[in-house]
Amino acid sequence: MSNTLVVADGIVVGMDYTLHTDDGQLIDSSEGEKPLAFLQGQGHIIPGLEQALYGMREGESKKVVVEPADAYGELDPDAFHKVPMEIFPEDLSLQVGMGLHLRDTNTGQPLQAFISEIMEDGVLLDFNHPLAGETLHFEVTIAYLREATEEEKAHGHVHDGSHQH
Ligand code: ZN
Repeated sequence: MSNTLVVADGIVVGMDYTLHTDDGQLIDSSEGEKPLAFLQGQGHIIPGLEQALYGMREGESKKVVVEPADAYGELDPDAFHKVPMEIFPEDLSLQVGMGLHLRDTNTGQPLQAFISEIMEDGVLLDFNHPLAGETLHFEVTIAYLREATEEEKAHGHVHDGSHQH
């Protein structure tokens, strides 16, 4: 019996996908892994992609181009911060593009930053999401669709092998 469901709010979507940037760089892919499973309509994936999936059927494929505003946002010039060299361990060889895991000194929240520039008197850190400002090119295939259980609807997320409680 073929699945008559289409992608809609409250439907669990299993999606195979490949993600490239505008200049053709491969960013992410579900190839060789289980399809990405999420509850449609809950903002678990970027808005521009979620919107494009509505109405798709099991087995259907689509190319979706998502502008930065509907993906990880535009590059925010206020998200660059210069910090003194002294905050880094002396034995760490700093390189432009290097990713750093930091902690907000006020809130304790984990932060990710990338070294944007190494200067005479400090280091310029970029706190933008690595994909900010990027137009994203997705190739998606709907691997499966199913109704969410009442519990999944109540929790607002999928319960599968990786998330069960
Ligand atoms: Zn749950």
